[in-house]
Amino acid sequence: MSSEVMEFSFDDGKVIKNNAVDLFKQTRSGEKSRISLISFKKFSDGVLAAKARDKGAPLSDAEKADFISKVDKKLAEQLGKPVEALTEVDRLDIKSPRFAFAYTHYRDGVGSVRCASKYEGSNVIKPELCCNKMGDADQTVAAVLMSYPVKDGMQVDEDLLAQRKYVNFYIWRMSAKKFRKLEDAYKEARGDDKFTIDLIVTLDGDPKYQKQQIVAGSNAVWAKGKLDAETRNWVLDQGLRMWKHVPNNLGYEMKMDKLAEKLGLGGAPALGGESGAETPRLVSSYDDLIS
Ligand SMILES: [Zn+2]
Repeated sequence: MSSEVMEFSFDDGKVIKNNAVDLFKQTRSGEKSRISLISFKKFSDGVLAAKARDKGAPLSDAEKADFISKVDKKLAEQLGKPVEALTEVDRLDIKSPRFAFAYTHYRDGVGSVRCASKYEGSNVIKPELCCNKMGDADQTVAAVLMSYPVKDGMQVDEDLLAQRKYVNFYIWRMSAKKFRKLEDAYKEARGDDKFTIDLIVTLDGDPKYQKQQIVAGSNAVWAKGKLDAETRNWVLDQGLRMWKHVPNNLGYEMKMDKLAEKLGLGGAPALGGESGAETPRLVSSYDDLIS
């Protein structure tokens, strides 16, 4: 049975909850969070990249399809289910966190704007107004994370985790510099043979800057064998859902004429004109209608 359709106006708009994804932000200096990155590449992504490296050239579509079906066959065998029953979650390689990046510009009052220039690798080959007026764009990286319910000593409260309480999912948007710190934490863990890990993140200073210390924790609690498979799959499924919102969180794709206007450069086309001749009639007060 589907739910009922309900009509509302702005006056009772409170019934609408904001389902937009939140960005991971810590709010007070010294605040600690135990988190884990939970969006991952697929096993086939890793295989295709390795095969393309071996070949020294991009794979053809036929080659890709062939490798993907081989990977699927192997996964199905390992999981003891038919290939057709494989889910997106089954195909995730939890040793390989997934990141995205885009070139962005930031300006107070304008916010984070996606760079519109054309790049070849990391070089601008056709600069647009954004770069001309705001300088070189920065690389902004995003990933999906889960924050845990914790007990004393930043230990995960596994009961609450299993009950899916106080578990939050966020998009973590960061500068290239913060990404390097994160990468270093992973490198250190990998040196200890840990691949899917938790991280302890501590806010260092004013929340406005979100300067964070990032330290590798133990093997990720959500991925441990002792946790039930249903919880693990739920976490991975949340990661897949959140990933869809990553592109929207890598800078607003503003039209360049709009940006010119925002930057006070003028030249923006005036609205209205002939098409705006007929204006809608507004009632200033409902009392006018019933008096
Ligand atoms: Zn730009």
